[in-house]
Amino acid sequence: MPNVTVCARFRPLSSKERKDHGDSVYIHAIDAESFILKDEKDEDIAFSFDRVFYEKSQQADIYEFLALPIVGDAVKGINGTIITYGQTGAGKTYSMEGPNILESDEPKKGLLPRVVDGLFSCLRSSDDATKHTIKLSMVEIYMEKVRDLFDLSKDNIQIKEGRMQEILLFGVTEILLLDPAEALESLSCGIANRAVGETQMNMKSSRSHCVYMFTVQQESAKDRSVRTGKLILVDLAGSEKVEKTGAEGRVLEEAKTINKSLSALGNVINALTCGSLGKANHIPYRDSKLTRILQDALGGNSRTALLCCCSPSSSNISESLSTLRFAARAK
Ligand code: ADP
Ligand code: MG
Repeated sequence: MPNVTVCARFRPLSSKERKDHGDSVYIHAIDAESFILKDEKDEDIAFSFDRVFYEKSQQADIYEFLALPIVGDAVKGINGTIITYGQTGAGKTYSMEGPNILESDEPKKGLLPRVVDGLFSCLRSSDDATKHTIKLSMVEIYMEKVRDLFDLSKDNIQIKEGRMQEILLFGVTEILLLDPAEALESLSCGIANRAVGETQMNMKSSRSHCVYMFTVQQESAKDRSVRTGKLILVDLAGSEKVEKTGAEGRVLEEAKTINKSLSALGNVINALTCGSLGKANHIPYRDSKLTRILQDALGGNSRTALLCCCSPSSSNISESLSTLRFAARAK
């Protein structure tokens, strides 16, 4: 059975939501896996997932539940993917990075700094006779073009398949990470470059997918055998629908492209979770750059975690419902 964990997360109400809508939260928690909410027609709908993280949930709980097992696997040579999905403002980046990637307040740290610590501590505790390396690449996918966030001049990275069917980003910059502090510096550089590119292209970061790829390699001193595990984190572009009226030109093109890649992702996850036994079902990885990059870290024996982020405000109910339906379909 493919291993896909699907979780929902509700962030706290923002002060703006409270001020503008005098918002009452629309979710009625049942337990750690399910809740009921009222839809646009005031009808009750129940949802259940592997875990639901309500407003008061801690960043550490999220890491432990959905990332820690994947980090442990990556060190054993098994690929994995952690994805945040949701409308702009729903808490994807907060979940990934924390308030910022260099946040020093431990409880607020996001998945990335925790993954970095997790990888290094797994390796420290592994057998001394093993030589290990951790490398990091960061790319951004915008309008179906892959851009290297460590070298903005590489703005059209090609995706290739290697001899072992592994996915390769041709010519992408790989940074060797020596310790957690250096890893955070590198992540911070990539994130800063993303902002530079945004200004250059006059694009909002919420319109592109950000992909963080850690490659963990272990070479045994005894027999020189090499194990490689890839851990990919993806902070997706906002899933919101653009206004049908008004949107035109590039905004509309961006929206269509994002929509296409998010549905490609949904279709791939769906094909993996519904994989009919025995029948070789087709997994449509090639339908988008996003799913193509994730091909060898999504499916097979790799583990996937999907964190679907929602606003708790009734003013966002229709986008939250669409996020939760995406999540439900991925189960
Ligand atoms: P997205 O990346 O989905 O567009 P963000 O992660 O940037 O959304 O979150 C939008 C705002 O809400 C930010 O100001 C962020 O700091 C805040 N926020 C999101 N999730 C939480 C949370 N769990 N706790 C506190 N603040 C949060
Ligand atoms: Mg964001």
